[in-house]
Amino acid sequence: MIISMVPGATQEQIEHVCDRIKGFGYSVHPIRGEERTVIGAIGSSKDRDRIIPVMESVPGVESVIPILQPFKLVGRELKKGKTTVQLDGLTIGADQFVVMAGPCSVESREQIFDTAHRVKAAGAKVLRGGAYKPRTSPYDFQGLEEEGLKLLAEAREKTGLKIVTEIITTENIDLVNDYTDIFQVGARNMQNFALLKRLGRVSKPLLLKRGMMSTLKEFLMSAEYVVSQGNPDVILCERGIRTFETYTRNTLDIAAVPALKQLSHLPVIVDPSHGTGKRSLVAPVSKAAVAVGADGLIVEVHPNPEEAFSDGPQSLLPDEFDALMQGIGKYLEVEGKRL
Ligand code: PEP
Ligand code: MN
Repeated sequence: MIISMVPGATQEQIEHVCDRIKGFGYSVHPIRGEERTVIGAIGSSKDRDRIIPVMESVPGVESVIPILQPFKLVGRELKKGKTTVQLDGLTIGADQFVVMAGPCSVESREQIFDTAHRVKAAGAKVLRGGAYKPRTSPYDFQGLEEEGLKLLAEAREKTGLKIVTEIITTENIDLVNDYTDIFQVGARNMQNFALLKRLGRVSKPLLLKRGMMSTLKEFLMSAEYVVSQGNPDVILCERGIRTFETYTRNTLDIAAVPALKQLSHLPVIVDPSHGTGKRSLVAPVSKAAVAVGADGLIVEVHPNPEEAFSDGPQSLLPDEFDALMQGIGKYLEVEGKRL
């Protein structure tokens, strides 16, 4: 339920309300707005009818209303404004359009450093690269593991880019946490609830990719797992879903972007690389992403896609990435965003 405090409610009143809610076995999630504090109270709905009248009579409470959507904390009912994710100096989800770019997999020092310098020069703010790869075949390249994490961290030192890398198992959380700025949970793990719960207890942002067969509601429920454990910094990523179409690798659900923004206050970015699987479609789809209000992109870039260990056909050459960044400029202007 949403407990709105009267404007000017005192800290004591707010704390008293929180204590009462906790006394009912509910968790409390206060949101301090400019005018008033709103407290999200999350717990079993079966006691709701008993609790609402009690809370309505607590001093300083203006109103108590139930949250109807199943995604309580990530939904718009509780929080009207936007969530922005802060990464010292970089804000994701505000007027700046944040582009993350880099290879599918970290393959070598030369490959990741070369790519990092090129994407930074083109305007990317975050370097992507998988050190642990969830591959369809067990015989395919599985990633450089810790060596890959070290190379990413070195590339960060050299360029000042932040890094995002995928986490595929709870066992590696502490290790990956030592290196990364943003954890990525891939499509295949979007409903790995044990992993999501653990990532709800780290103090770093999480880039959550939509599962290839997941509805928007399921996607938001996965984000809810993370936020309900205490980590509010979730970035949603639309990366295409499986449909009957086989020309493209996935079908990028462009309407998911404004739909997610209507349903949730979390930032939403688009992955045009996995969303299409084809290099030639990455730039046009990126423009569409800007036009529908995405907060950023995550794009695969490789200095030599022909030799890439994974996802070569959808990886842009650095020059092509540079052209993409120039190409979205006008669209960003129309949307009131900047790189
Ligand atoms: C990736 O980012 O390289 C990746 C494996 O993405 P997804 O989880 O969206 O398939
Ligand atoms: Mn990939």
